[in-house]
Amino acid sequence: MSHGDRVWSVSEHLESILTQLRPLEPIELQLLDAQGCVLVEDVTVPVALPPFPNSSMDGYAIRVADIHAATAEHPAVLEVIGDVAAGAGELPTVRPGQAARIMTGAPVPPGAEAVVPVEWTDGGTGGGPAVTMTAHSADPTGAAGEVRVHRPAEHGQFVRDRGSDVAAGELALTAGTVLGPPQIGLLAAIGRGSVKVRPRPRVVVLSTGSELVQPGEPLEPGRIHDSNSFALTAAARAAGAIAYRVGAVSDEVETLRATIEDQLIRADIVVTSGGVSVGAYDVVKEALSSLGDSFGELGDGASGFVEFRKLAMQPGKPQGFGRIGPERTPLLALPGNPVSAYVSFELFVRPAIRTLMGAPSVHREVVRAVCVASIDSSPEGRRQFLRGHYDHRTGTVTPVGGAGSHLVRALAQADCLIVVPEAVTAVPAGQDVDVVLLD
Ligand code: AMP
Ligand code: MG
Repeated sequence: MSHGDRVWSVSEHLESILTQLRPLEPIELQLLDAQGCVLVEDVTVPVALPPFPNSSMDGYAIRVADIHAATAEHPAVLEVIGDVAAGAGELPTVRPGQAARIMTGAPVPPGAEAVVPVEWTDGGTGGGPAVTMTAHSADPTGAAGEVRVHRPAEHGQFVRDRGSDVAAGELALTAGTVLGPPQIGLLAAIGRGSVKVRPRPRVVVLSTGSELVQPGEPLEPGRIHDSNSFALTAAARAAGAIAYRVGAVSDEVETLRATIEDQLIRADIVVTSGGVSVGAYDVVKEALSSLGDSFGELGDGASGFVEFRKLAMQPGKPQGFGRIGPERTPLLALPGNPVSAYVSFELFVRPAIRTLMGAPSVHREVVRAVCVASIDSSPEGRRQFLRGHYDHRTGTVTPVGGAGSHLVRALAQADCLIVVPEAVTAVPAGQDVDVVLLD
């Protein structure tokens, strides 16, 4: 099918992709598998945190009245009745004139009202050998002798109260939260082993081109290493997806179709690179424009399975998008030049991945920056994305490399894309431009 010579704007193409996509159905995942995913349930705290009052210091659990007049010259002398280690279950009762040696995180024993850090004491003297500490029991009977306390303490000092972090019944996390390391830590702390989230989309990346050789293999004349499938797989991972890299497929329609068909089973999105322009051997275009029944009905009145378009964009003019197979899996066909493929990924595939994840931020951050060098010629009628280096301290951006879509080293040195709008053909040095931040 053909839409003739219609030229799509960048935003029209993006819009037409995103309106076809819905966030993936939530599933229950183990905590570490849920990292980076969006929570779809409100999580309430079943038991207060901390679950019991505990010491924030290594020191002595005491009664406030016993040491209210303590000074360095006239320390309060207390009988040490035992040790309380973190994890202790059985606790000694601290009575007037007594103290219990206590470790950080250990439960404050009954009778004690505060903890004095070991630095406020003489460290405990006399009474023979130190009491043996065990992780799971206090030693209510083993007296360790005496301790001299040099300063008074306030009620509750160095004690973390039950529920002082969060009380039972309170919200720990709300639906929509992206689970980063601290959120995963909180879920673990409140005893959750798994949570309901939107899963990471599975992205199958395949490159096309009979000239492509796997990195690590020697190059024969006329051949190049397949870099796109690596860059795009890495980019899909960085966007939050589970990415599967399929090795380069040769420029044969049947091979490509069979490979895509095989891959559909594990794909929420298929991304191809190369073979979408107007040359001979443009295999993706050939294979997917005429897929017909082998990939099932599209069912929304569209006349093609994958539509190939010309975009008002540089690099990245030829693009394909459609939905294929029984699951109507979205497929984005990107151009083959490495910079074109990568820029296209950033502009179209990444937002698609983020949409499937239900992510709150679908798009990259765009900032205004002063372009420190002039951009002398930019194609009229096409939105140009030049590679740049952004300096957030000065709010400036410097173009890196030229406009050539084969310049992979410059791409590797860049951290942003400089946007030159359709109507602009030159940017003088010192002018403000839009900058898409890439990390
Ligand atoms: P195509 O769109 O397939 O004609 O590819 C355009 C240009 O990008 C050609 O010079 C290809 O050799 C190059 N190219 C295509 N695919 C890849 C790839 N996977 N890795 C590196 N270069 C590629
Ligand atoms: Mg090719």
